[in-house]
Amino acid sequence: METEKSDLVSTEGLFLATVASLKQEIQELKAQNIILRDRLVSKTIQEEQLSEANHRLQTEIIDRQRTETALRLLLDRLSSEKNDLEIILDTTTRHSDTIEALLYERALSLAREVTIDGLTQIANRRTFDQKLEIEWQRLAREGLPMSLLICDVDFFKRYNDRYGHPAGDDCLRAVAKAIESCIRRPADLAARYGGEEFAVILPNTLKEGATFIAEKVCHTVSSLNIKHEASFISDRVTVSIGISTIQPTKKLSSKILIESADKGLYLAKKQGRDRAVFNAD
Ligand code: GH3
Ligand code: MG
Ligand code: MG
Repeated sequence: METEKSDLVSTEGLFLATVASLKQEIQELKAQNIILRDRLVSKTIQEEQLSEANHRLQTEIIDRQRTETALRLLLDRLSSEKNDLEIILDTTTRHSDTIEALLYERALSLAREVTIDGLTQIANRRTFDQKLEIEWQRLAREGLPMSLLICDVDFFKRYNDRYGHPAGDDCLRAVAKAIESCIRRPADLAARYGGEEFAVILPNTLKEGATFIAEKVCHTVSSLNIKHEASFISDRVTVSIGISTIQPTKKLSSKILIESADKGLYLAKKQGRDRAVFNAD
């Protein structure tokens, strides 16, 4: 009986010890479980970070590939432009003389366009204005006289009406040439003043010299024998001319010379046309 009791106590003690050991083991397993769960969480985070980094890298690779393609295209274009430039450079070097001659010709033709009247190919109004001013100043300094002729085609409107505008243009070309042929000195200038009017600048020329040139112009134009059946005063094209001579001074404006020649022209028209009249005012 005593032995039985002692065995029971010992079995109970063993059981309790086993329970305690199992509790201990469960505690340890729980602790390990927590550690494992933590590790799992940290692994998941790492995996997400790696996936993100991977995505970034792939985007970067695509970007770089695009940039590379764009750069290659640019390089191709630059190299083709370089080739073109080399060809141009080579051509310009080989033909530099021709190009220079062409540029010179172009500059000359531009200068002509600015200074020459397109229809009659004599000096235009702009050239006339400049020349008048320059000569006025020069002659004022030198104390020398200046004369001006203003020539106007007689009944030119009727000429156009009778023969047509293109024939009128031909007539103006012929008259311009005829007027220009009457002046000789390098300082003289014949210009188209406007429409069917022409002006002749005669520096260092007195009344007598200017009248002589004006009468020569009248005669030369009339001698062209351009038929003008619609004219009331002749059977051919004629011109009327106003003449003025003035001593330029710094105080006077060159306009006075034009106004005076205009008055002469008015008188020439009034007195019957086909003539040159000196205005003494
Ligand atoms: P007047 O004897 O009084 O000078 O008479 P006119 O008919 O010559 O004068 P008007 O001023 O009445 O007419 C000038 C004419 O000149 C009119 C215009 O059509 C003509 N004309 C002006 N410029 C040109 C041109 O470039 N070509 C042609 N064909 N005619 C022009
Ligand atoms: Mg007129
Ligand atoms: Mg006229």
